[in-house]
Amino acid sequence: MTALPPPSKQKLGLVIDLDTCVGCHACATSCKEWNAGGIAGPLTDERPYAKDPQGVWFNRVHSYELAEERPHPNPPPHAGEGAAMPAMTLHFPRSCLHCETPACVTVCPTGASYKRAKDGIVLVDEDKCIGCKLCSWACPYGAREYSEVEGVMKKCTLCVDRIYNDKLDEDDRQPACVQACPTRARHFGDLGDPQSKVSQLVAERGGVALMPELGYAPTNRYLPPRPRRTGEDAGDASSSDETPASLTKRWLNRLLKR
Ligand code: SF4
Ligand code: SF4
Ligand code: SF4
Repeated sequence: MTALPPPSKQKLGLVIDLDTCVGCHACATSCKEWNAGGIAGPLTDERPYAKDPQGVWFNRVHSYELAEERPHPNPPPHAGEGAAMPAMTLHFPRSCLHCETPACVTVCPTGASYKRAKDGIVLVDEDKCIGCKLCSWACPYGAREYSEVEGVMKKCTLCVDRIYNDKLDEDDRQPACVQACPTRARHFGDLGDPQSKVSQLVAERGGVALMPELGYAPTNRYLPPRPRRTGEDAGDASSSDETPASLTKRWLNRLLKR
């Protein structure tokens, strides 16, 4: 079994905005592209053009239809009493959460799965991995990916070979998925520093950890979708002082400030 290091001061991770994710899979494909050739590669595909394709993906995007919720959990202004949260589609990108106390590490019999003492990144040393899959059974988030071709376990590396890569321009030392996201729904930084941009974003938007009751203490955070307006609410808004031009300006300002 593998021991964990003492908790690190720095806790590198991702913050994913479920309000602005549009489920385009750019993060998943850019992750695959970068990591297929990096330290974690190859990320093999099996039967890619058959009916049942399989392959190694460190980041997968799931889409859900959420039914109308009544009453609205957080009704917007103008919505009357008993207002409903309209039905919506939610896109949920899933990758390793770089947990603080991950059982995927402690169950590993060879020390192949480990957590870095410096920055909290959880990695797999493929030279030590015997492919027993105990870690994938232990991870409740489905974040481990077994390579049938190589017989070893793989997972999101937080692009450790990009973020510390001094051959890249400083602006490019970010995870591939963060750089590729067209809606800037993905953010990378130090969640151990309350003053960091990502920590402040989490505080402002009420970011959440996934299933904290399990005790693995995930580092990554998800920002919940903002309340949606119903058609009736939208009618109310158009009767306010705002014109289409001012609404567009406000939307653009918001976009550019990101
Ligand atoms: Fe381990 Fe799963 Fe947590 Fe990643 S998300 S550190 S694989 S338990
Ligand atoms: Fe993939 Fe890197 Fe993003 Fe992890 S941080 S999901 S390895 S692109
Ligand atoms: Fe969502 Fe961004 Fe990933 Fe597209 S690239 S699926 S918007 S997180």
